[in-house]
Amino acid sequence: MEFPGLRDLTAGKKILAENFANWTSGNEIIDNFIQEKQLDYRNFDKAVFEWIPYNELIGIKEIGKGCFATAIWKKGPLFHYKNENEWVKKSYEFVTLKFLYDIQHITDELNKIESYSKYDVIVFGISQNPDTEVYLLVFNDICFDRYCKKCGNEYDNICYKWCKECQINQLKNDFTNWTSGNIKLDDFIQKMQLKIYEYNILFEWIPYNEFIIIEGLENYTLAIWKKDSLYYDKMYNKLERRSNKKVYLKSLYNSQEITDEFLHEIESYLKNNEIFGISQNPDTEVYLLVFNDIYFGHYCERCGNKYDNSFNIWCKECQINQLKNDFTNWTSGNIKIDDFIQKRQLKIMNYDDTIFKWIPYNEFIIIEELEHYTSAIWKKGPLYYDKKDKKLIRKSNEKVYLKYLYNSQEITDEFSNEVLIFSMFKLNINIILIFPYFNRLNHI
Ligand SMILES: [Zn+2]
Ligand SMILES: [Zn+2]
Repeated sequence: MEFPGLRDLTAGKKILAENFANWTSGNEIIDNFIQEKQLDYRNFDKAVFEWIPYNELIGIKEIGKGCFATAIWKKGPLFHYKNENEWVKKSYEFVTLKFLYDIQHITDELNKIESYSKYDVIVFGISQNPDTEVYLLVFNDICFDRYCKKCGNEYDNICYKWCKECQINQLKNDFTNWTSGNIKLDDFIQKMQLKIYEYNILFEWIPYNEFIIIEGLENYTLAIWKKDSLYYDKMYNKLERRSNKKVYLKSLYNSQEITDEFLHEIESYLKNNEIFGISQNPDTEVYLLVFNDIYFGHYCERCGNKYDNSFNIWCKECQINQLKNDFTNWTSGNIKIDDFIQKRQLKIMNYDDTIFKWIPYNEFIIIEELEHYTSAIWKKGPLYYDKKDKKLIRKSNEKVYLKYLYNSQEITDEFSNEVLIFSMFKLNINIILIFPYFNRLNHI
């Protein structure tokens, strides 16, 4: 069967058909399958499906539990190179062999071949070990990545090379290596671990001494988890840990007793991939849930409530508390004005609302007196909510307009008329400052 130099696709297929008499797999089903594949060969197929004599495979090395082997195929695949319109033989090709022990279900195996191509897998053909009489599928070397090196089954997640069965076996073997000290909780953790259906972080028992406590927040403790979460190592196909991850510990008071309600709560966090595991403070015997960053994408890390705006990780309550704490740090010198400013501050609705505040006059550099306003630079600048750092920060040297209010009656009117204040915002004036006249006299 001579191909090199032959150009025509149809002529090549004719040679293949004439060659049917010169080989046999010894199995009629396989022979028919190969012949059909050869007659159906299209010029975009990456190789002609062939019967490959076993002696063409050299350097066979078994891998895994005897389901696979690697080898070099001396003669190599034959294909029609569309661009050059030429038949080509690519010798000494690195291949993967899959043993087909179950000859009873050979038809099922053969039917699967079509579906392999969608994973960039090329099936070159079939061979047979003459000594053991075991048939072999001959793939390109990529295909090997689709099968678990430990058990030989197809990965549940090919991209991550994740084999559910092997992972579960590994976890089961590990059950004897840890305990929470509570049988009910141990059972629960084990049950949750075996429920792992997708490549993901595992829920586990975490000894308290694996944490370095950083800071006590209102309802949480910020800590570094020295050992950190289990993850699946793609290179070595095993569970590994990434070290030193920031975590949040939430104390579960009254949790000395493990109730079903308590376990249901944990399960709901697990469904959202929000927790790494559970621990216990050995001194207080209080259980601690170990939260990851995903959780704090939805819940305020200060108070633990759901964010009012989880896209911008903004907690209204904490913001208001922060403003309230600040009430003693400033005064306009006028109780009525202080009250008004405080009330307005507490009315904040959204993360991007401007925070209305008392501004000492020396924070301004006057630029120009206009007809109704004075333009100025506010050195310290307005407060706004910084999404990244989750706190109020200042935008310094902001250009602003000042409006003078010349008598106390005007102050009262302006203050009572909120409609006016909002409508003035709409005039594209950055900040409206309501300033008592006496300040003007004192400073100008
Ligand atoms: Zn496996
Ligand atoms: Zn909060």
